[in-house]
Amino acid sequence: MSLAATAQHNVKVYDLLNELKYATQDTAKADIMLNLAKAYFPTDVDKAISKAELALMIAQNHQDKIRTFDALIILIEGYHKKQALPTAAKYLSQLQSIKNAISDPMRRAQSYGIEGKVFLALQDFEKAHNAFKAQLDIYERNTQSANNIDIANTYFELGELNYLQGAFYDAIAFYNKALNVPNTSDDVQRRIETLNALGRTYFQVKDYNRALQYSSDAQYLSESISDKALVANIYINVANALFALGRNAETIDKLTSAESLAESVNDNQLLAKAKLLHAKVIYANGDINTALSLSNESLAVARTTNKKVIIKDIYEFLYALYDSKNDVSNAHLYLKELVSIRDSLNSEEQAKQVNINKIRFETEATEAENQRLLAQQLENQVTIQRQKASNYILLALLLLVGAGGYSLYQNLNRKKAYNRQLEDEVKKRTEQLEASNEDMARANKLLEQSNAELERFAYIASHDLKSPLRNIISFLNLIERKLRNVHIGNDIREYLRFATENAWQMNTLIQDVLEFSRIDSETLEQKREKVDLNDTLVLAIQNLQESIRESGAEIIAAKLPIIEANSVHFLQLFQNIIGNGIKYNQQAQPKVEINYQLLNSTHIITIKDNGIGIDPQYHEQIFEMFKRLHTRDEYKGTGIGLAICKKIIQNLGGKIWIESDINQGSTFFISIPSENTQEVALAA
Ligand code: ADP
Repeated sequence: MSLAATAQHNVKVYDLLNELKYATQDTAKADIMLNLAKAYFPTDVDKAISKAELALMIAQNHQDKIRTFDALIILIEGYHKKQALPTAAKYLSQLQSIKNAISDPMRRAQSYGIEGKVFLALQDFEKAHNAFKAQLDIYERNTQSANNIDIANTYFELGELNYLQGAFYDAIAFYNKALNVPNTSDDVQRRIETLNALGRTYFQVKDYNRALQYSSDAQYLSESISDKALVANIYINVANALFALGRNAETIDKLTSAESLAESVNDNQLLAKAKLLHAKVIYANGDINTALSLSNESLAVARTTNKKVIIKDIYEFLYALYDSKNDVSNAHLYLKELVSIRDSLNSEEQAKQVNINKIRFETEATEAENQRLLAQQLENQVTIQRQKASNYILLALLLLVGAGGYSLYQNLNRKKAYNRQLEDEVKKRTEQLEASNEDMARANKLLEQSNAELERFAYIASHDLKSPLRNIISFLNLIERKLRNVHIGNDIREYLRFATENAWQMNTLIQDVLEFSRIDSETLEQKREKVDLNDTLVLAIQNLQESIRESGAEIIAAKLPIIEANSVHFLQLFQNIIGNGIKYNQQAQPKVEINYQLLNSTHIITIKDNGIGIDPQYHEQIFEMFKRLHTRDEYKGTGIGLAICKKIIQNLGGKIWIESDINQGSTFFISIPSENTQEVALAA
């Protein structure tokens, strides 16, 4: 905030506090609290929160929906800014339970906006996207009252949303929309942030010239603002782009400015970042020793901040520096540090993810409860109205029938009793039916959950195994290098080679398990497209070029169809089966033949080889995970390829099987329904 703005803010707060002294009515007090909260936000978030909490209490006491709403908005904004997500989510649920009672469109837009922000923080991108879209929708329908700065804000958030998902070009489009909303030049801070965001996004897509242009624009505008940390951040972005363009001298200039700015506001995180990049530039200039001392400075500063991500980057660079100097013992030291900090970052990330999932789950539960209550309320209203109407009719009837109606009345009573009996019966049956339906749904849900959990487990386990394994391989390389000029027995070298070989084998295994768990039907639904299998086959054959050349194999292919599927999956499938046909083959010239037929609306693809064949007793088993019929010395492999193929075909509602005998070659059959592929897959 500039000096003038600070002064203005202080006067406003002072006035409000004064007003509070003389306020007697609760509503007036709540209003003053709300205005105070707004005045404190965002410079003093804690104070803003405490005032909004008081306002909330008063408003809730009076069942005052509008003020409750306004207080909740500030509370969610505040806790979101403080990154206290559980509390923000708690207040968001309260907001969602009352927002339907609010008719003012601008308030509704506001609630969608804050909803979007919280969901974005919870990484629930779909919900965040829907919320921001709903907000824009309201602005479009109410152009009179909509504020341009708010609209630009929403576009900016949509940009952030896409950026976080890695959809960089969409992010760029939204940031540009934010910039182009007319009459928003008052909001300089947002403009700078948007230009800066554009700069870093173009950097991500490696368009360094544009990255430089936007970051420089941001820098130019930022000279007028007092948020020095933001300015330093922008300098670093400019430097990043310059460095990528090979303009090293200018990079160093920008970094020096960034460093002195960061120092002036005591922002050690930014300082460490700037120094690390500085060291990298100096290293690129060929001066290893200065690069080393700068990296160490950067490390010392970073260690005061506890920002592990930066410390990790520095270790990584120090490891590379010492490694390039052939200083094995220091390289080893930093590699060890790198491994341990990477592990601790991993476990922190996991804990965070667990926490986020928990909040998400709770938010969804309250949301569902709100929906249910709302539906019930509506239903009750309808019933009451209907009852009222029927009461009137009854009254009229009674009047009409008058005295002579006694028998009719008795008749009616009897009928009513009978009706009631009937109703009771129907109700009982319905309840029974509902209960059994619920049981079934619950069992289904449990099954789905446990399946999904299993797949997630396989994914997480293999994903997490990758990083320690990479570390093992790095260490083995280090040991090997350290022993290169030392006289040791051949057996030790042999053990080392064996260990490395096994580590690489494990790497392949993990990679395969990861691939297997990635093929779940959900992602398949999203990535389904029209695939020309002829193109996919050509690509598969290209990828197998090396083994085809080495074995002298002949591949013969008939014309294949275009189907609704996922092209990457089919590429994997062709590669696995054709690769196997060449691998499990002792002929002087291996031969693989691919044929196709459309039979009764079913695509039948066959892949036939002249290889070693498979004993019929194993025809089912070879499609299971890890099932192999040979040792690794005979034929290399992990036993996962065919399991992957089976999953791919099953997800399309199809089947895969084999006809073969020992020494008779093998034919793999694949059948896929040609019509309604999607429905069949869903039903399966
Ligand atoms: P991998 O090839 O990695 O071992 P797969 O799942 O692809 O795993 O295959 C499982 C097993 O089935 C193989 O180990 C091999 O024994 C057998 N097999 C697969 N394809 C063929 C084939 N075309 N001819 C003979 N045996 C095969």
